Amino acid sequence: MKTASYAAQSATSPMAPHTIERRELRPDDVGIEILYCGVCHSDLHMARNDWGRAMYPVVPGHEIVGRVTAIGPDVKKFKLGDHVAVGCFVDSCQHCDQCHHGNEHMCREILTETYNGRDRVTGETTYGGYAKHIVVKDDFVLRMPDGLDLARAAPLLCAGITTYSPLRTWNVGPGSRVGVVGLGGLGHMAVKLAVGMGAHVTVLSRSKAKEADALALGADRLLDTSDAKALKAAANGFDVIIDTVPVKHDINPYIPLLDIDATLVLVGQLGNMDELFTVPAIMGRRRIAGSMIGGIPETQEMLDFCARRNILPDCEMIRMDQINEAFERMERSDVRYRFVIDMASL
Ligand code: NAP
Ligand code: ZN
Repeated sequence: MKTASYAAQSATSPMAPHTIERRELRPDDVGIEILYCGVCHSDLHMARNDWGRAMYPVVPGHEIVGRVTAIGPDVKKFKLGDHVAVGCFVDSCQHCDQCHHGNEHMCREILTETYNGRDRVTGETTYGGYAKHIVVKDDFVLRMPDGLDLARAAPLLCAGITTYSPLRTWNVGPGSRVGVVGLGGLGHMAVKLAVGMGAHVTVLSRSKAKEADALALGADRLLDTSDAKALKAAANGFDVIIDTVPVKHDINPYIPLLDIDATLVLVGQLGNMDELFTVPAIMGRRRIAGSMIGGIPETQEMLDFCARRNILPDCEMIRMDQINEAFERMERSDVRYRFVIDMASL
């Protein structure tokens, strides 16, 4: 089936209209009409080939909310008309220990990414949610809980789960002291989710410019990371810090902020970091960890949690043809706090 989409044809070309082919339904496939798709910083990284592994044309988009329009004969979980969602991956081996534990994102045989992945049956490149339709194996489709505003929920599928998963892994709950570095798409979800779990939340931002926003999102305070005195006063004050910064940066200032045995979780930049000064980590048994999205069961748990607590991203709705401007604004951190494409505009 031919489907309208937006694609980058090279690292330097703007996003432009492009027609893709979606596969015929396999017996366990769900055909989805895409209603909304969030714009993640990873979309920009991939379109621009920041990670050196882009396969053009790249059709980004892994924060997908839509409606079921077709089902294969073996699909039992979904019916026509259901509201569903698709996140960052659309397949995995489904037989390794990690897949069995619902950690499909850490599949030993490597997950199949929603875009710029390789279909496990045909080897064809996968195309993401900047499109009218998508076809996904039923086990990798999420159910949208009743009561969650479809137009605002899309960013939960990446920004939401990427921050929910480390909060759960490091047992954040009432009274936990959580820091969030970088108040962007991921950062603002980390704030809302940690607040929802009862934590005391601090935003660590490059200036005071987002202070009012941080408080409005539910954070208790904002620390300006350019203010050495303020950082010193905050030493030993955190159980978990989630670092969402998308570019190479110096993490050394954050380590002394951790309490003994506390953890800095890197979820943003992929690649080399500035040199690490090991003393605060060694002296305080402080940990530096990484985390990537979350598995299907945890993603469903996060959606249900957000529906129960009415936790929703702050979205700026755009038309598909505004995507280039949105990318430029995201690069300047000029988004409060996630662009969402209304796919009716495509
Ligand atoms: P975003 O909306 O652009 O937000 C990033 C935030 O980082 C900005 O708002 C800014 O916050 C801060 N920042 C930006 N440039 C900076 C710089 N030069 N130095 C210090 N801070 C800077 O991006 P996003 O969509 O949240 O994505 C963040 C990163 O996470 C991306 O690299 C993305 O690829 C990655 N990601 C990872 C996963 C995963 O599974 N681990 C999943 C999704 C995305 P302030 O203005 O407050 O400083
Ligand atoms: Zn993403």
